[in-house]
Amino acid sequence: MAPLWDSRPSPGKGNGMMALEDIEPGNLILEDKEALRIYAPSTHIAAADVRAAFDRLSAEDRARFLLLSDGQKTSDDYDNARLLRIFETNNFEDQYGCWIYLLICRCNHSCQPNAVVLISEQGEQLYAETFIPKGSEIYISYKGAIFRSLTARRRQAMMRSHKGFTCSCPACSMPNPGLMVSDMRRTLIGGLWYALQGLEVPDLSLLDDPIAVIPNDYDPIATARHRQVRLSEAERTAYYYVLARLEQAEGSSPYWTAAYLREAATYLLYQIADPPHVVLPRSAQYVRDWMKEASMLTDSVRPPHSQEVKSMHQQCNNIEAALAKLADESQAGLD
Ligand SMILES: [Zn+2]
Repeated sequence: MAPLWDSRPSPGKGNGMMALEDIEPGNLILEDKEALRIYAPSTHIAAADVRAAFDRLSAEDRARFLLLSDGQKTSDDYDNARLLRIFETNNFEDQYGCWIYLLICRCNHSCQPNAVVLISEQGEQLYAETFIPKGSEIYISYKGAIFRSLTARRRQAMMRSHKGFTCSCPACSMPNPGLMVSDMRRTLIGGLWYALQGLEVPDLSLLDDPIAVIPNDYDPIATARHRQVRLSEAERTAYYYVLARLEQAEGSSPYWTAAYLREAATYLLYQIADPPHVVLPRSAQYVRDWMKEASMLTDSVRPPHSQEVKSMHQQCNNIEAALAKLADESQAGLD
């Protein structure tokens, strides 16, 4: 298969990954494997650790590592400080440590990414999540789900502290009133998401301080207090439904819209299933419609053999069976 991408200059970001042809959502862009793993949290990794791991790479992989952005400038020279900057700008992290991908990491960051890294038994794969027109740049998000609930200013504070650059992605550099609307949507996404987790929105004021250094392990979710009042099933249905539509309007991956529609459908089904088992045809139709849309969206952005697609189809079947059973019970009650 001819490569779908090439590394080309990206204004203000050194190089970026450019689409060589139109890429449809759900299409595989490239396969990669992790290189240069360091078994320590990013806060504990020093230049000497990166240097030692770098020296263990093959000559070819060392050259590929040096092609990655260091967040400041591109140069052929390198010293331990630049190796560390490259590592800090590009690393992925999980509970076991940090690592680099030599190809995937050539993808620049966007707070509104059009591609995602999926990890499977076959290795790591980069998939398109939205339509990527030929000649445009392919982006992933270097930050987790929390970024979808932060305003541009707050995201930039984190990127400056953690990755050493000011994000100028399409979502961050959009002019007003678009930016204001996006900030409001993301703030609402945060409010609904925390409430659904049973949490109050945490104090995010550190991110509003222009000179604050945000610690690498900054985790506002861990500091959020528990809500006193539990959400009802009707509230959960509404919150998940609104969350799905906000993510959609914000241009997030259709995967999230699907995930939240599925939750909304499930909570609406719980309400229908509450005694006295009178199934209102319109509510049942909403449950079916939302599941149908969720399933279609998941199919559009995830490979057919993936766990996400299998689980979504299974849930559709379960919900259909539950609705049929309730309709029977409801009918029996009326007879
Ligand atoms: Zn951004």
